[in-house]
Formats: sequence, C-alpha cells, structure tokens
Amino acid sequence: MGIIVQKFGGTSVADADKILAAARKAIRTQQQGHQVVMVVSAMGKNTDVLVDLAGQLTSKPPAREMDMLLSTGEQVSVALMAMAINELGSKAVSLTGGQIGIKTDSSHTKARIQSISTERLRKHLDDGHIVIAAGFQGIDEDFNITTLGRGGSDTTAVALAAVLQADACEIYTDVDGVFTTDPRIVAEARKMDRVSHDEILELASMGAGVMHSRSIEFGKKFGVPIHVCNSASFSDEPGTVIDLLPESIDRPVSGVALTKNEAWISLANVPDQPGTMDTLFSKLGGVNVAVDMIVQNVGKGGKAEVSFTVLESDLPATLNAVNDVANELGDIEITSEANVSKVSIVGLGMATQTGVADRMFRAFADEGINILAITTSQIKVSALVRREQAMQALRAVHSEFQLDKPPKDRVSFGDKSAAVQPPSPIDVVARLQRMEDLTIDDIQLDESQGRITVSHVPDTPGIAAEIFEAVAAENIMVDMIVQGTGRDGMANISFTVPKESVSAATEVVRPVAANLECGPVTHDKQIAILSVFGIGIRTHTGVGVRMFQALSRTGINVEMVSSSEMRVNVVVSADRGQAGLKALQAAFDDVIG
Ligand code: ASP
Ligand code: MG
Repeated sequence: MGIIVQKFGGTSVADADKILAAARKAIRTQQQGHQVVMVVSAMGKNTDVLVDLAGQLTSKPPAREMDMLLSTGEQVSVALMAMAINELGSKAVSLTGGQIGIKTDSSHTKARIQSISTERLRKHLDDGHIVIAAGFQGIDEDFNITTLGRGGSDTTAVALAAVLQADACEIYTDVDGVFTTDPRIVAEARKMDRVSHDEILELASMGAGVMHSRSIEFGKKFGVPIHVCNSASFSDEPGTVIDLLPESIDRPVSGVALTKNEAWISLANVPDQPGTMDTLFSKLGGVNVAVDMIVQNVGKGGKAEVSFTVLESDLPATLNAVNDVANELGDIEITSEANVSKVSIVGLGMATQTGVADRMFRAFADEGINILAITTSQIKVSALVRREQAMQALRAVHSEFQLDKPPKDRVSFGDKSAAVQPPSPIDVVARLQRMEDLTIDDIQLDESQGRITVSHVPDTPGIAAEIFEAVAAENIMVDMIVQGTGRDGMANISFTVPKESVSAATEVVRPVAANLECGPVTHDKQIAILSVFGIGIRTHTGVGVRMFQALSRTGINVEMVSSSEMRVNVVVSADRGQAGLKALQAAFDDVIG
C-alpha cells in the first residue's frame, strides 16, 4: 500500500467548509487504498495576522518567540482537520512538527530541516489513521519550536514525502498549477501539464509564486514528483506535475520568468589576477547579500570588468561592501543602476539545440529593447533590461517561443526513459543525514570549447540578435554567453563554441560586428570551462565564494564568469584546467552528493 502526502495551503483550509472538503478528499484517497499523510498550513491569512499582532507590540520580536507564536497557526489547522475527519467517520491523528520528530537547526524563523523520524508516522498509518502533520515547523536540539520560513509547509510536505518514500506528493493550493509565465503579466500564459524540477528551480522567481523553492530542491534531491492542483476543483482539474521530465523534449523553452526588482553593479579597473573575485565575493557573502547574474569579461591591459546583480533592496548594503573592497584593491570605479529587471528563458530542451538565444535577442530587438547584460546556464538564458521595458520583454519572448500553445510532442506521464533515475532508497537514507545541506551534483571541466569575444559593442538594441543569428545560421552550438555593459556604456560580448567551430564562428561574426560598428573580434582556443552545479546554489549563498577562494589559492586567474540559479561557470586558461578541477573537487569535498 503506497503513501500519498497531501498538502493543503492556507486558502484551502480557510474555513470550516473548506476544511471539510479537504478532509473528504483525504478520506477518498484512503478509501482508494492508500495511506494518507496530510500537511496543513495555517488557516487563510492567519500567519499574517499573527505577524501583525507581534508587530503591534514590538518592532524586534525575539526570533524564538516569533516561532512559538507562528507555529500556533498550523496547530489550529491540524486539530480542526482531525476533528473533521473524525466527524466524517474516519480515524485521524494530528501531530506537531516536534511530535513527528522533524529536527531542525536553531536558526529561528528560517530553520533548516536536519532529520525526520518516520517511526511514529508509520505506526499511526499502519493503525489506519490519516496522519495530519503541522506544516512549516520543527524542533531544535533543545526542544525549541522552530519554523522553516514563510511558505515552509510546502517544504514539510515534500520532505515527508521523501522520507516516507511516498508514491506522490500533492500540493492543493489556490492556483491551477504552474504557468509558462506569470498570468498576471502575460494574459496568454498557459498552465503546463508538467515541468521538470530543474526548470522550476531555474525559473525561481516564477516558481516562488507557486511553491517554496526549498521544497522543489527537496523534490529533485530525493526524486519526489510533486503534483500541484487547485483545491477549488479537487478531482477534475489535472494541475501540473513537477518531475524529472519537461513537458516536451523538442521544445527549447518551457517557461519564461521575470525578476523585477534587480540592481546592476559594475566594477571597472579590477586587477585581472588571482584572488580578486575571492576578495569581492567573500565580502558580499559576509554581509549576506545574495549575488545573481555575475559577469566577468575578458580583461584588457591587466584590468577586468566585473558586474553582477543583486536585489534592489540589497543595493545599499552591496555598495557599502563594494566600496570597502574597492579601497583594498586600489583604483576601482564603481557604477550602479537600480531600475533594471531580469528576463529569463528556461528549458531543458535548449541544452541540445542550436539557435535558441538568438531568438530571444531578436524578439527584444524587434521591440527596440536594449540588453544590458547576458548570462547563461545549460538550460537558461537571462537578459538584463531596463525595468520600464521588462513586461514588454517578457511578453515578446513568451510569444516568440509560442508558449501559449501546448507542445505537439507532450511527454507522456510515467515515461521516465529520458530522465535521470531517482536515487535508490538506500541513497535516500544516506542523503537524509544532510537533509537540507547544499549538495553539489558535479564539478566539471570542459576542455572542448573555445571563446570568441566581440569588443566595444555599442549600447543599442539588436546587436546580440544579429551576432547570434549569424552563428545560428551556421548551425554552431553556443554554450556560454556573457555580456556586461560597463561604465562607458560599452559592452563586450563573449561566447563559447566547440573548438572546431571557433574559426567558422569568428569568420561569420567579423563582418557582422564590423557592420554594427563594434570593435575587433578576437578568439582564444586555449580556455577551459570549470562548472560547479547542484542543488541549493541559490538558497545557499557562498558557492561562488568557495569557488573563487579555491581557484585563487591555487593561483588560477578567473577570466570569465557566468552564473545561474543552479550553476556557476568560470573560464580559466587551458593549461590550468586540470589544476582548477582538483582545487574545486577538494573545496567541495564535503558536499558532493
Ligand atoms: N503558514 C505559513 C505561512 O503563511 C506556512 C505556509 O503556509 O506554508 O507562511
Ligand atoms: Mg503557503
């Protein structure tokens, strides 16, 4: 008999009728022959009400007491749910996080799960109970109640599904599923039948609207398929399944996302030598600023330009930290721009297709949208644009990749042939020792690529489009793309292609660049790409720091960087590739999964 975990969000348990409807759903599932674990959130906006109450007493509530307070919301829901199920004639037992044995660290209000014991849960299930678990909470070593951060019930649900090796984890919420983009911005957004964990993670800003991103990280780590459905239409609407496979294998792009409130910081005159990136990112890690799109362009005359984005709200703290670093490193010029947004296209399919990025750039060019920066990962291309053009940019790419229409080659459910196999039960148990730790899936050295750089790219729309269309017309597969606009409004665009295509790509790009009044086009086959990728790169700051530290201690200069939610790529010179790989393997030794 399989276990099904069903999670009901706040809106799905907002009043007595909704609680009864959820109870009936769970009972039906049990009657179909499953063991059922329900995870419930606080009723309606109860958590907000509690936060507000605390705020009326103090502007700095002690974190421990905040957790004591907020955990009561879920305690109300589990008790009422158990009563409802009893009333409907079935057996149920409600349990708090502590009673289940959800052990967390002691970082109140944002605790991370360390382990979950399953004994008590299993005993109740075997006795025929529906177990109702309070979401969002756990207990630390000293029996203090902790909470997992706002929206954390999703994480409780997926974590329970993982430890119980449940057949399914169903998330009942007030939306119909996961959409190709935010339907509030793009009316044509379409509900996807399915989407892969990887895509959702790279679409972070969008996934966040639907699910707690840590819960998706769990889902991926433990191979848990997550079924998101609308509780208003229980059995009839299929919702979206988040699993190993995308909706379509042929389609290059599955979804597009907008991160609206970003800021861009650019450092010019940075010494192009080992240790610089380390100094900079250690500092930012130290003040807890999460850095997104990192772009370092090829240096000229011993100087490089390093740029990156942070959330706009982190800009003041970032500028403070960067000013300190600038003093340490000498004569560095800092510029920043607050009104920018990041638009990303994401799809597992793009990892194996040519001519994807250029379509995004063309869609922007046709709308007269200028691109300030570009970064890529295997399954994502992100472009930074001015905020007033961001919505238009999002609509343009959504329409370019025809995301409003269902794909023709939908992957059938249950077809896992092309997917990575989920970890075996033994692995799951082993990995549970480190429940929410950062897991680095792999560190790779790619010596197959060469780099082409177009210098002095004028700050006008359409240039990236022309360059990458020319490359795509030759059927050349582009891997990494990096563009960053510096203080003089000039950008460099660098990209990598297979070594054997470097000459061909350089030849097609040269006349295009000359026509567009760019500077010289150069190429370099003597490069190596080092990539660190894994789960939790986004929610654990410090991956970049560790990476740059390891390289700097080995005396390796970072020539180019490009990062995404799940991956950091750096380019180093070819003769340092092997040494770099060793240094990174040693640096991440404790977290390689
Ligand atoms: N009740 C908590 C919150 O509102 C946890 C959750 O709903 O997932 O954030
Ligand atoms: Mg919620």
